[in-house]
Amino acid sequence: MARKKQTRGHCAYCSREMTRGGLARHVATCAERQARIAQAGKKRGREETLYHLQVQDAWGGDYWLHLEMAGSTTLKDLDRYLRAIWLECCGHLSRFSIGGWGSDEIPMSTKLGRFFEPGLELLHIYDYGTSSETLVKVVAEREGKATTRHAVALMARNDAPEVSCAECERPAKWLCMECLYEYEEPGALCDEHAESHPHDDYGEPMPLVNSPRVGMCGYVGPAEPPY
Ligand SMILES: [Zn+2]
Ligand SMILES: [Zn+2]
Ligand SMILES: [Zn+2]
Ligand SMILES: [Zn+2]
Repeated sequence: MARKKQTRGHCAYCSREMTRGGLARHVATCAERQARIAQAGKKRGREETLYHLQVQDAWGGDYWLHLEMAGSTTLKDLDRYLRAIWLECCGHLSRFSIGGWGSDEIPMSTKLGRFFEPGLELLHIYDYGTSSETLVKVVAEREGKATTRHAVALMARNDAPEVSCAECERPAKWLCMECLYEYEEPGALCDEHAESHPHDDYGEPMPLVNSPRVGMCGYVGPAEPPY
């Protein structure tokens, strides 16, 4: 798909709209988030190190997440979250490593607190055939209590990139895999043009959802956060 301007997204706490980099800085000082952190701090339970993670598709950068996870959570928790929000199609294998394919796989049971520190970059690979590669960067850490009972707090996410229908100018909601793979056409289609589209060698057009895995393997979404 044609390269367009940087995608923007919203702060999950105060709804401010910014770029990925803007939000990386914003969530650290967001007043609404600070209030949530203060509230969580009054609850029982021990303090621990929490990590701000910037997650993005390794090849485009249009898709990204800002997450917070505690040191007691594991890579498996992060893997589950990435599968749920972005990746899962047919239960493929996945792995984390520091560096690419040649580097050692880090066991999924590893707790983040064992090796995470600001500046660390991890590569997550989902599906060793039609691979989705995701970069996970540790942006910052803080001492305190988690703002959620879940393993992951979603602090911000990119808005779905706007793609127009190849036949008209209306927003596209579907993707024809035959156009994409056989004819190297964008293949993006609105509801109406998806309906009348002639290609069926790759089945019906796939839903165009907010995920870097759109158009890969049998991915159909829904690309919604699990919580
Ligand atoms: Zn905010
Ligand atoms: Zn698949
Ligand atoms: Zn159309
Ligand atoms: Zn087509």
